[in-house]
Amino acid sequence: MGLNYSFKAARKKIDSLNTGEREALATICRDIHQAQQVLSHKAAPILEGCMAGCRGLCCRNIHPADIITEWDLVYILTMAPEIEDAVAACLAREGFFPSDCIFLENGTGPCLFPDSLRPERCIISFCRVESSVEKEIGRVMADFSRLIRFFIFRPLRRLTGWLRPNH
Ligand code: SF4
Ligand code: SF4
Repeated sequence: MGLNYSFKAARKKIDSLNTGEREALATICRDIHQAQQVLSHKAAPILEGCMAGCRGLCCRNIHPADIITEWDLVYILTMAPEIEDAVAACLAREGFFPSDCIFLENGTGPCLFPDSLRPERCIISFCRVESSVEKEIGRVMADFSRLIRFFIFRPLRRLTGWLRPNH
């Protein structure tokens, strides 16, 4: 399934939340954002190497749908709803064959997504195993897992809330 499908699925997931759930999701997303900021700060010397070297080969000749998930889009749309139209415009360029990432602005970059509002795999992936940022990568991954669990267990939470006698 492609990114257009993931985008619609993400939008639907966000739209289905009630007020309390939206606040809970916002808290998780703020934690992901903070974890991404910490990782980017600690990884600054590695990223300098990226800029001086290949300047983003990992954003080229890819299938974006293999990298970016609906959970990433839930995170990004929650934190930056103002870029939804721009994201939708990029999705119109989604194709079947590998290409430069559709989210590279003007086809060359930088990435459309603001700093620390990146898909999980984009922010945690480096060419080599980087032990200096292992802990920070782990925190980003753990916070994305929280986001996924939040949606997976949502029906159960709603059911137990509904069954509570004072509901
Ligand atoms: S992670 Fe590797 S491929 Fe990606 S920008 Fe850095 S050096 Fe280039
Ligand atoms: S979303 Fe951004 S960082 Fe990720 S592959 Fe596309 S251009 Fe690169």
